[in-house]
Amino acid sequence: MSRFDIAIIGGGLVGASLALALQPLARERGWRILLIEPFAPGDGYQPSYDARSSALSYGTRLIYEHLGVWPAIARRAEPIRQIHVSDRGRFGATLLDAAEEGVPALGYVVENAWLGQSLWAALDADVVTWRCPAEVVAMRANPEGYRLTLGDDSQLDCSLAVLADGGRSGLRDQLGIDVRLREYDQTALIANVSFNQPHGGQAFERFTDEGPLALLPLADNRCALVWTRKPADAQRLRDLPDADFLAQLQRSFGYRLGTLLQVGARSLYPLALAEAREQVRSNLVVLGNAAHSLHPIAGQGFNLSLRDVQALAQALQASDSPPGELRALRGYVAAQQRDQQWTVGFSDQVTRLFSQPGKWVAHGRNLGLLGLDLLPPARHWFARQAMGLGSGAGPGSAR
Ligand SMILES: Cc1cc2nc3c(=O)[nH]c(=O)nc-3n(C[C@H](O)[C@H](O)[C@H](O)COP(=O)(O)OP(=O)(O)OC[C@H]3O[C@@H](n4cnc5c(N)ncnc54)[C@H](O)[C@@H]3O)c2cc1C
Repeated sequence: MSRFDIAIIGGGLVGASLALALQPLARERGWRILLIEPFAPGDGYQPSYDARSSALSYGTRLIYEHLGVWPAIARRAEPIRQIHVSDRGRFGATLLDAAEEGVPALGYVVENAWLGQSLWAALDADVVTWRCPAEVVAMRANPEGYRLTLGDDSQLDCSLAVLADGGRSGLRDQLGIDVRLREYDQTALIANVSFNQPHGGQAFERFTDEGPLALLPLADNRCALVWTRKPADAQRLRDLPDADFLAQLQRSFGYRLGTLLQVGARSLYPLALAEAREQVRSNLVVLGNAAHSLHPIAGQGFNLSLRDVQALAQALQASDSPPGELRALRGYVAAQQRDQQWTVGFSDQVTRLFSQPGKWVAHGRNLGLLGLDLLPPARHWFARQAMGLGSGAGPGSAR
């Protein structure tokens, strides 16, 4: 029977990032890390490596720079120079600008497939062992850690098991970890589109009575669309012929980038806020979407998980004990508690404020956008939250 110090269950964006973040410490302490993933990166369908893109915050860039993998990611990362936030049919609007914030970009848009491949290529096979394709079907705690059973009936032991198997984690349920769930009754329609004008690094967040619509600048003058609608409406839009879909999108978005020319494959993601009620036990950490899945409107889910990854690596480094010791794991949760509460709350509030139809809500939203535009400190504060550099402290506080 093989034994590993750390077994990471799920080699999606979060699991692969954790393996990378733990590499230096594993080398130093002679730890063996195992990464278990059913789908080979870049080889066939992979839930985290599909055609979707992610908006990476500026803070995420800094973490990947520290891990030495940013130059590879940056080769296909499109910088976000400006974010236009507006409400269709109303005056309120605001503009977040990288130059005004003194940073080269407010964030970056990267295709998940590229991000995954960059992470995977940076792993050191002397420290990180892959089991792929392989799936954990059962796990059981024992005095030394966890015993994992894989789909081929083989078993292995580890001191620390990290559950990074995504939002539908069957293993989390198997371990009896409850989830706090808030259904939004919304579905995100995702597609890549292109316009007849260059996007120029501009991102757009547009609020309409039917739901928020985000367009993010992508490489090759494409834009990544995240269009949040009621579930039935999202299905209807997905099934429209291309020309009809583009006409509807043009009506909702307007002509800020000229005429829409093309749309790629459209896919749907039902949206909910899900939070695991326990993130650590002795010898166990729940991470990434398995720990918290957020609405994508504020583009914070993965960025938050990467900050969790960094904090977990730091907590393990600060401890002299073998990985899995509960005190160090609790230290990780304590270190990230404020960030998690703030980011989950921020995403949830923005979602509810910007998804609700109705005159008064729209009026308040409009005033909020006008306020942001008129008050540079408030806009600066909002930009720092969006960049993943905010502490959550209010606009007037010192940073
Ligand atoms: C529409 C949409 C847009 C988004 N946009 C953004 C954005 O712009 N910015 C941002 O920060 N976040 C965004 N997010 C959130 C982001 O996608 C997630 O935070 C991120 O994908 C979570 O990664 P993960 O590795 O935890 O989970 P996943 O990506 O689900 O990966 C889990 C992995 O575990 C593997 N696995 C599953 N079961 C097992 C098992 N039993 N054994 C072994 N392996 C297993 C799976 O194959 C998979 O590779 C968005 C989300 C959605 C839905």
